[in-house]
Amino acid sequence: MIAVKKGDAPATLTNTGSTEVAKLKAAFEEDPGAFRDGTKTHAFKSSVYGAKSVKSALKQAQFDKCFACESPVSAVAHGDVEHFRPKGGFQQKASDPVTKPGYYWLAYRWENLFFSCQICNQTHKKNLFPLRKAADRCLDHTGDLSKEAPLFLDPARDDPRKHIEFVDDVPRGRKNSKRGNATIDGLGLLRDQLQEARRKTFVMAQLLADLAIDESVPAEQRNRVNTRLQEMRLATQPYSAMIDDMLRAKGL
Ligand SMILES: [Zn+2]
Repeated sequence: MIAVKKGDAPATLTNTGSTEVAKLKAAFEEDPGAFRDGTKTHAFKSSVYGAKSVKSALKQAQFDKCFACESPVSAVAHGDVEHFRPKGGFQQKASDPVTKPGYYWLAYRWENLFFSCQICNQTHKKNLFPLRKAADRCLDHTGDLSKEAPLFLDPARDDPRKHIEFVDDVPRGRKNSKRGNATIDGLGLLRDQLQEARRKTFVMAQLLADLAIDESVPAEQRNRVNTRLQEMRLATQPYSAMIDDMLRAKGL
């Protein structure tokens, strides 16, 4: 995971999204108990939060990579517009039942949306949204979100690199960061197929790095290799955090 810099909110969210949020809040206020016990649920419009303009703005900001695992998405999948704070219900722990109604008032809010691969979003994160103190959770739109201390890193607010480091191709909490570890566990960043994909990139980069520091290799060739390596650590590239940590460790 790396930091994400989003531009301005797409008009779909500020216009239609705001109107829809007002409707969701009004529906809740009419019968809070029914939304809490699940007899009533909010109907969310994927045509708004998942609008083409929203998805492409997120893809552009994230260089077409999943916000969590940094895998390139569009070559093999459509990808999801995912809600950082889950819109329909939440869990403090994966073993907890889903508590309703979730963060419905953030369903169309730009700051709550990221582009994600389906596996990070649908298999791992789902409704999981742990807080440092569960009692601080906002249970409806009248709550104060600034009182919540989420355990998952928010790449638009936090610098994930301060919390997650790579030892070779394996991520772990930097200085045992609780938020780093919670993010790695909760988003499944150690899953086998992801490890395999990262490993391929890692092995290639490591070979190049060994060449770049091998003094028996002609300087011109080493420079060319190093140029390619420096490209691989850019935010635009898959698994850039892993490559950056590896290059730092080698003094490159
Ligand atoms: Zn992912």
